This record gives sequence, C-alpha cells and structure tokens, in this order.
Amino acid sequence: MNVTTLPKPPRVGLVSLGCPKALVDSERIMTKLRADGYDMSPDYAGADVVLVNTCGFLDSAKAESLEAIGEAIAENGRVVVTGCMGKEADVIRARFPDVLAVTGPQQYEEVVAAVHDAAPPVPSPFIDLVPEAGLKLTPRHYSYVKISEGCNHRCAFCIIPSLRGDLVSRRPDAILREAEKLIAAGTKELLVISQDTSAYGVDIRHRAWPWKEGEVRAHMTDLAREMGKLGAWVRLHYVYPYPHVNDVIPLMAEGLVLPYLDIPFQHASPKVLRAMRRPANDAKVLQRIRDWRAQVPELTIRSSFVVGFPGETEEDFDYLLDWLEEAQLDRVGAFKFEAVEGAPATSMDQQVPEDVKRERYERVMALSARISTEKLERKVGSTIDVLIDAVDEETGGATGRSKADAPEIDGEVHLRDAGGLKPGDIVKAKIEDSDEHDLFGVPA
Ligand code: SF4
Repeated sequence: MNVTTLPKPPRVGLVSLGCPKALVDSERIMTKLRADGYDMSPDYAGADVVLVNTCGFLDSAKAESLEAIGEAIAENGRVVVTGCMGKEADVIRARFPDVLAVTGPQQYEEVVAAVHDAAPPVPSPFIDLVPEAGLKLTPRHYSYVKISEGCNHRCAFCIIPSLRGDLVSRRPDAILREAEKLIAAGTKELLVISQDTSAYGVDIRHRAWPWKEGEVRAHMTDLAREMGKLGAWVRLHYVYPYPHVNDVIPLMAEGLVLPYLDIPFQHASPKVLRAMRRPANDAKVLQRIRDWRAQVPELTIRSSFVVGFPGETEEDFDYLLDWLEEAQLDRVGAFKFEAVEGAPATSMDQQVPEDVKRERYERVMALSARISTEKLERKVGSTIDVLIDAVDEETGGATGRSKADAPEIDGEVHLRDAGGLKPGDIVKAKIEDSDEHDLFGVPA
C-alpha cells in the first residue's frame, strides 16, 4: 500500500492590536491564509512567521505596536507588520531593520503575499481548511461585521481618514450573505462596526441590490432591518445621530435590532464640538434621546467622551457634566485628550494641562459610575435575556451579557446555579443584585 505523507503546513503566529475593526482585518487575513494552507501557531516558538497587526490611532497605541513588533522580532525573528501603523513604514524600518515586510491597513493581498514570501505555502488538495464562515478570532457565538472602511469626516483629533482614506461601503447583499454564514456557523450576535455606521452607503448613493425576493439599499436602516430578520441579535456600533437614526428606533421597538445604540458623542458643549469638527453636531440631541426612550423605554445608550480638548474651559466642562446628568446615558467611556501626530488638534492653541485633564476625567467617570449604578439597581427584580459567554464548571456559575451589554466594553451578567448552560445559549435570568457595571442573578 502506498502511503502519502502530507508535508507539514507552515505556521503563522498572529499578534492583533487595536480596535474591533482591526480584529476583523486580522480575521480576513487569517481566513485567506488558512485557505492557502497555513496553520496558526499559538506561540512565537512554533511560528514560521509572525504577523503583527498594528494600531496607530494614538501615540500610546503606536508605542504599544512598536513594543509588540520588538517582542516578535526578539522571540521569533521573522516578522511581517501590517495595519494602521503600516503607513509609517519608515519609522518601523528605522527601529527594526529586520522586519520582513511592512504593509498598510486593508492591504490584504500585500500582507498575504508577504507571508507567502516569508514562508511559502504547501499545496494541500486533500483538506478543505476553511470553515464556511471564514476564520474567526472572536468566540463562535458573536461576530463583528464590518460594513464599510474609512471615513468622510475630518474630526480635529483623529487621523483615521488619513490612515484609512474616505468612506468605502461594502455591498449590502455581500454583508447579509456574510451574516447568514456566520449565523449558520453558530453566531448568536452580530456586532455592526465601521467608522461611521450612520453614513453607510453614502459613497455608493444608497444603491439597491437584489436580496431574497426583493432588494436591499445600501443604507443603515435597510441593512439593520434585513439583518434583524436573520434571527440573531443585531447590535449597532458607531452610530452618529444623523436624522435618519430616528428610523432605526422602530426596528428596536419591533425587536428586529437590539435596543442599543453606541453613539460616540465625544462632547456636549456646542463650542467644543465645533472645534472638534464633529459630524451630526445637533443641539437638540437631548430631546431626541427623550423621544427615542419614549418609543423604546429599555433603550441602552453607550457613548464616549474626550475631556481636555484644546480650548475646553471649566464652563465647557460643566456644560458636559450637566448634559450627562440630563442625558442619563447607560454606559460612558471617557478619554483624556491625547495629542496625535498629524491630527489638527495637536497644534491647536490652548492645550489643557495634564493635571486638569486628569481631574476632569475623574469627575466624568465618577458621575457616570453613579448614573450606571442607579440605572442597574433599577433592573434588580426583573427578568432579562442573557447570552452566555462562559461557564465555570467548578462553581457551576456562568457569565453572560444582556441586550444592554456589548462584549468587552460594557458590563456582564453573572449567574449562579447555571449548570448545564453553554456559551452561546440565550436564557432568561432573574436579576438579584447589581453593582457599578454588572448584574447578578440566577436562571429563571
Ligand atoms: S468620524 Fe471623526 S473620529 Fe470618527 S473616524 Fe471619522 S474623522 Fe475619525
């Protein structure tokens, strides 16, 4: 009998830094590499080449990226760099002359070609290496779905448009097909991401494509509705409060889309928002939040804010605190303004001293912690749906998230006596207790 011994496939190590959008890029690259016959290596030692997907959004992220490249060079030596910092190939090469290749964000073909050069693939016609839904770096039961690349805005503190270019929207039918495959492979929650979800389709004039028996426009509302019909939880991230956001609220009332909006307000003072050159800078946003909540009382709003933007006075900051008190947002993240090389705000006059930034940051966080604690207290005694993320065999407990919690950035729901549950289950839970961020309960 002839026995064919298959050659061992080359192995790729991956270090993925940065935001969920970068994670989706990493997933695409790894999916392509798996299709080309590569294996993944969980450690540096077993890798024939290490791919570092970098983030270049803030100077601190760049420093972290450079550190990761340095570690990969020291531990393995054969390193390909990609991602946002790839735009600064000179900086990377000056510091690490031994890197094999540097490619920029979304240069999927280039990065795959660089890996092929570094560790040539072994053809393997016997095995279909890639699952239908592609290769995922998140757990099987939730998936990020990137609907567009780039951004048409030019916020004064941001260099994303110069790194990633103007808005380029994906076809809605392609997004929906991807969502269908993910659900067929076990995804229970689709997290819609982009730089500006509300702007989806502007670049392709909201064109319609055939879908099922009808058609679907490249528009946030149409896409959200069709995604909602697929049966998984649909969570919308990076939604700017353009007027048409009002149209997704009825989809939440119908239960097609999760009653959750992640809106990066960044500030409330009209003066600071103007200086930041923020899109959808709407003075009536508080009234709109009230209207949305009247239609969907369980609506959760998450947002992030920058404190200490150049020119932010004590009066502007107090305006923000009053606004937050009024808006009663459910989840608030705050950042101290960080000067990023290449961003217009970096060279603006009236930079705010670090100690003032720190003090303002602490005040925003204290206020949002109080509001969050009070809002979560009101959920004690209620019964809610929980998507299980992890189970602890030893304690018999489980950790999951409610419709109000996005993975990694929001709170969790901790369940006791949850034996028999597994990740991806959606169960009813009775809430018994709460703290600043999390809920505690028992399967109902
Ligand atoms: S909307 Fe503003 S902050 Fe967001 S990616 Fe575009 S330019 Fe940057």
